[in-house]
Amino acid sequence: QNDGLQAQQKSTDLNTGEVDHNIDEMRILARRQYLASREQLKLQVLQQELVFLEKDVEKYGWEQLTQKERDEITLKRELVALVQQREDAGKHGFKFQDDYIDENGSIDLNRKQQLLKRKPAQNGEKESRQKLWEDQQMKNAVRAASGAEEIYVEGSQGYDFVFDDEAMIEFTEDSNEDVLPEEHSEYDNKLLTELERENKRLLTIQETRKSLPVYHFRQELLTSIKENQILIVVGETGSGKTTQLPQYLVEDGYTQRGRYQIACTQPRRVAATSVAARVADEMNVVLGKQVGYSIRFEDKTTPDTTILKYMTDGMLLREFMTDPELSKYACIMIDEAHERTLATDVLLGLLKDILPHRKDLKLIISSATMNATKFSSFFYDAPIFNVPGRRFPVDIHYTLQPEANYLNAAVTTIFQIHTTQALPGDILVFLTGQEEIEAAQQSLEDIAHALGDKIKDMVIAPIYANLPQEQQSKIFQKTPQDCRKIVLATNIAETSLTIDGIKYVVDPGFVKENSYVPSTGMSQLLTVPCSRASVDQRAGRAGRVGPGKCFRIFTKWSYFHELEPLPKPEILRTNLSQVVLLLLSLGVTDLINFPLLDKPSIPALSKALENLYILGALNSKGVITRLGRMMCEFPCEPDFGKVIHTAATHESCKGALEEVVTIVAMLHETASIFVHARAERDQNKTAVVGKVSSDHMLYLRTFNSWRDMDYSKSWCFDHKVQYKTMVRVRNIRDQLWRCCDKLGLAALNEKAMKSLNVDENLEPRIIKSFIAGFPTNVARLSPTGYRTLGKSQGGVNVSIHPTSTVFQAARQDMKKPSKLILYQRLVLTSKEFMRDCMPVPREDWLQEMVPHYFNGDN
Ligand code: ADP
Ligand code: MG
Repeated sequence: QNDGLQAQQKSTDLNTGEVDHNIDEMRILARRQYLASREQLKLQVLQQELVFLEKDVEKYGWEQLTQKERDEITLKRELVALVQQREDAGKHGFKFQDDYIDENGSIDLNRKQQLLKRKPAQNGEKESRQKLWEDQQMKNAVRAASGAEEIYVEGSQGYDFVFDDEAMIEFTEDSNEDVLPEEHSEYDNKLLTELERENKRLLTIQETRKSLPVYHFRQELLTSIKENQILIVVGETGSGKTTQLPQYLVEDGYTQRGRYQIACTQPRRVAATSVAARVADEMNVVLGKQVGYSIRFEDKTTPDTTILKYMTDGMLLREFMTDPELSKYACIMIDEAHERTLATDVLLGLLKDILPHRKDLKLIISSATMNATKFSSFFYDAPIFNVPGRRFPVDIHYTLQPEANYLNAAVTTIFQIHTTQALPGDILVFLTGQEEIEAAQQSLEDIAHALGDKIKDMVIAPIYANLPQEQQSKIFQKTPQDCRKIVLATNIAETSLTIDGIKYVVDPGFVKENSYVPSTGMSQLLTVPCSRASVDQRAGRAGRVGPGKCFRIFTKWSYFHELEPLPKPEILRTNLSQVVLLLLSLGVTDLINFPLLDKPSIPALSKALENLYILGALNSKGVITRLGRMMCEFPCEPDFGKVIHTAATHESCKGALEEVVTIVAMLHETASIFVHARAERDQNKTAVVGKVSSDHMLYLRTFNSWRDMDYSKSWCFDHKVQYKTMVRVRNIRDQLWRCCDKLGLAALNEKAMKSLNVDENLEPRIIKSFIAGFPTNVARLSPTGYRTLGKSQGGVNVSIHPTSTVFQAARQDMKKPSKLILYQRLVLTSKEFMRDCMPVPREDWLQEMVPHYFNGDN
C-alpha cells in the first residue's frame, strides 16, 4: 500500500498548503508524467523481446529453460498483458494520466480541474481500477522477488504516485470538498506548463525519429543484419544512421537483456559525446547508464548497465588489447567509415581477422555516399544497404577569382547572405580549427555590433573538437524567430554531426590535416584544400530542410582542376609508430600482409619500426620489448609513454615523475588552457607564474599553482586560465598516474625521491625525460636560424612560434637564443613553426639520453 500512503501525504500537504513550490519538484513530476507516456514505447520493446523469448520457448520447450528464464518470461507475459489491459480500459472511456492532455499534447486546464474534483469513481470503473492497481503491485512484488531489475516498465510506479487522481481524491474528498483551493492554481499552472513542455519535447523527439529516412527501412535493415554477418549501410548525412541503427539493434534484442553490448565508433570525440547524449535522450535514459560514451580520458559508461556505447574508433582499438575477441559485444557499428581515419582502417583489419571466430558478432559499416564498394570488396563482397535519403537541390556559387584571405571573404559572404536572404535559413561555415573559428566569431560580432539595428539578430554557434561540452548543444538549439543562426564549424559538420535548419553553406574549401613525411620523420598539421568529395558533402548540408545555396570561396576552375577527387586516407599520411606498436603487442607480426584497405608504403612502415627501436619499444630484431608493452598501456602516444617511463626509471631523471606526468597531461590540452587564444594570451601566461624557461615549465607551474590553490575556480578566473580545461587536465593526469601506479612506476619514483634531493635539479631531469621521448624533435641553431636534426636529410628550417614563452623570453630579455630546442609539434602557417618549446642547455644530454640515436654524426 506504499503508493497510497505517499498519495495521502501529498494531499495532506495540499490541504495544509505546505506544498513545496519548488521548481525541481515540478520537474520531477513532469519527468514522471513523461516516463508514464514513454510506457507505450517501452511496451513495444517489451513485446518484441517477448516475441524472441517465446521463440526460445518454442525451440527449446518450457522444460528446458532455467527457473530464472521461466520467471522472466512469465513476468514479461504478465507485463504485456497488464499494459494491454490498461490500453483496453482506455478504449472503454476510462483514461489514465493523460485525461487532460489531448492527442497533440495540449492540456485542457478545465478538464484537469474537473478531474481533480471528480467524485469517487463509479463502482465498475473503480473495480477495474482497483484490479489494475493490484496487478501493478503484484508486478512490483514479482519484480522484487526475481531481482530482474532490467525488466520493468519504467515510470509505471511514478505514475501511480503522482497521477493516480482517484487515489488522491479518495483520501481527501470526505474531509474537504475543495481539494485544490484556488491559491494552488498557480502551482498547478506551473506544473502544467512544465508538463506541456516535457510532452512537447517527447512528441517532437518521437516524431523526429519516425520522420528519419532509416525509419522506413527499419525492418528491412534488421532482416539484412540478421541474415548477414557484415552489412554496409550507406545513406545521406542526417538519415539517421548514427542515432537510430544502434537503437534498432537494442530494440531487436541483440544485447540479450544486458548480456552483450552494442558499440558504435566515431572518428571524432565531439561526435561520440554529442550523439550519445542525443540517443540517451531519445531512449529516455540518463547519459552514462544504459547509453554511454567512451573517449580517451573520459569513460561515461556504467559496468553491467551500459548496453549501447558510442566511442571513438581509437578506444575500440585499445579494447583489443584487453579483449582480443571483443567478447562483450554483440554488434559493432563502424560509423563514418568513409572518413578513413587510421584507427578505423586498422579496426576493419582486426575485425576481418576475428569475424570468422566470432560468428555471432555483427558488423555494420556505415558510411556517407562515397566509396562504399571499397568496403564491400574488402569484406568478401558484403551486401550494401542503401538508405535512399532526401536531399533538396543546392545551388552552388563560386567566386570569380581566387580570394587571398578566405577568412575575410567568408565573413563578408555571411553578411551578404544575412542581409539579402529571407529568414528563416541558418548558415553553416566550414573553417579549419579553433583559432580560425574564434577569429571569425570575433569579427562577426564586431561587425554586427557596428551595424546595430540595421540588421536582424544573429546567434553565433561555434563547434570544434575542443569546445567544452556544455557549449556544444548550442548548435542544436532551435533558432529564435526573426533571427539567424550562424554555425562556425570544423569539418566535424561535414558528415559527423547533423544540424537541422541549415539553408546556406559557406565553404572556403580548406581542412587541417596531419601530414607526415617518413624520410624526414616530420609530422605536421597542415591547412590544405579539401577533396572534391568533401566539398560536395559540405554543400549537401544546405539541402536538408529545403532547397539551399552553397557559396564556395574558391573558383570553379579550382574545383575542377585543383582539388583531389577523394581525401587521402590517414594511414597514408601519418606516423604509424603507435599503430605498429599496438599491432605488434597484439601479436600481429606480419605487418606487410595485415589486411588493410590501403597499404602504407614500405618506407612509412620501416620508419615506424625505426622510431620504435629508437624509443626502445622494439629490440634490434624488431620484437616488442617490455618497455614497448608498457608504452602501449599508456593512453597516449608511445613517445609520451617513454617520457613518463624515463622520468621514473632513468638514473639521471628519476624522481621527476609527478612533474613530468603533469606536463604530459597539460600538453594534451594546450589549445584551450589560456583564455583568449590570440593577442592577449602572451601577457596572461607570465602573469600566471612569472618567468619560466620553457613552455613545459610554464604548464607545470600553471598546474601546480592551481593545485596549491586547492584547484580553485576563482584562481583560474583571476589568472585567465580556463577552469574547465584544467579540470580535464587534472582528470587526464589522474588517469596517467593510475597507469604509473599499476605499472609500478609510481613506487619506483617514490623510492628515488626519498634518496635524492630532487628539487635541486628538477628541471634538468624533466628536460632529459623529454629528450628520451622526443629525440627526433630537436632543432639546432644555425647561421640561418633553427634547423631540425634530420639524420640523413639535413633538416628543415624552423622558427619558434611567437606564442611560445621561449620566443618572448628571447625578445624581452635579449638573451642569447638557446643552441638547441626541443619542440612538441611543428605547424606550418606563414612558415614552419615549432610549438611548445623547451631549450636544451647542454648538447651532451642528447648523447646521454639516446646514445644509439645521437651517435655523433648529427
Ligand atoms: P546520420 O548518422 O545518418 O548522418 P544522425 O543519426 O546523426 O544521421 O541524425 C539523425 C537526426 O537526429 C538528425 O535529423 C538530427 O537533427 C538529429 N540529431 C542528431 N544529433 C542531435 C542532437 N545532439 N540534438 C538534436 N538533434 C540531433
Ligand atoms: Mg552519422
